[in-house]
Amino acid sequence: MSKPEVSNPGATLYVVATPIGNLDDISLRAIQVLRQVDRIAAEDTRHSRRLLQHHGIDTPMLALHEHNERQVMHKILEMLREGKSLALISDAGTPLISDPGFPLIRACREQGIRVSPVPGPSALIAALSISGLPLDAFCFHGFLPRTSAARKQKLAELKTAASTLVFYESPHRILYALQDMLEVLGGEREVCVARELTKQYEEVTQGKLQEVVASVTADAMRQRGEFVIVVAACNVQGEDGLSMESRRILRLLLRELPVKQAAALTARITGEKKNQLYRYALGKEQVVQKPTEI
Ligand code: SAM
Repeated sequence: MSKPEVSNPGATLYVVATPIGNLDDISLRAIQVLRQVDRIAAEDTRHSRRLLQHHGIDTPMLALHEHNERQVMHKILEMLREGKSLALISDAGTPLISDPGFPLIRACREQGIRVSPVPGPSALIAALSISGLPLDAFCFHGFLPRTSAARKQKLAELKTAASTLVFYESPHRILYALQDMLEVLGGEREVCVARELTKQYEEVTQGKLQEVVASVTADAMRQRGEFVIVVAACNVQGEDGLSMESRRILRLLLRELPVKQAAALTARITGEKKNQLYRYALGKEQVVQKPTEI
């Protein structure tokens, strides 16, 4: 168990979210905290200077990036132990979301140093909010692997996931990633590609994977900038009204359980209608018993 937080109100590490493009997308409290802390730990101090200048913040900075994270962390911890307050920011959005900071926060927690969030933008939440895809359950996977083979393997693992999927992607790999998605997930899967959110060339391309890949391939401009890819869950409805996921669960359960029980359990897991599942199971029962079908 981590130590309880110390009471010295000065000794706080604030984790401050900053804009993902538009410099005005920052909270009043974030500006206040960035002005008041003793030091700001920034991923790239030159990059963050523009933001700080824009808001009239002249707090000194120190660089904390993935290459010096372990060494600088000790300096930051020392300052915090002396009772100083610091803010952690990244180049864009919420620190630690595909950004440095994890060892530092972990160490603060272990040492009982107060860590406090100043919430704000994150590209994944911004993209999800405008995607038009179901958000009752979603799963963020950061950046997909760089090589096509590893990427396809990861996508194959996620193919039957029952929640909306979110990925970050760079301009170098956006087209390859979408092409691999098309190959592994199929052209009918719904996708939303959010490019350059909150910036001058903000653009959202949405539709079936086959349409989106065609559109991104055809226009080189659509391959520039920063991207979030939001992919619909595997819930294609068949003619029987059942989702692929519930049919998959039902088929698995039918290997071990009688039809009635398998249908009832699938209904409880997926929220789909027991009668429909039962009818589907009756039709499937003979087939799923064959080892080759499994
Ligand atoms: N911590 C950040 C956050 O909370 O969103 C993410 C940092 S991660 C290193 C950078 C990636 O986020 C980019 O490669 C891109 O995939 C995504 N991203 C950042 N800003 C974006 C924007 N304005 N529009 C679309 N995607 C963006």
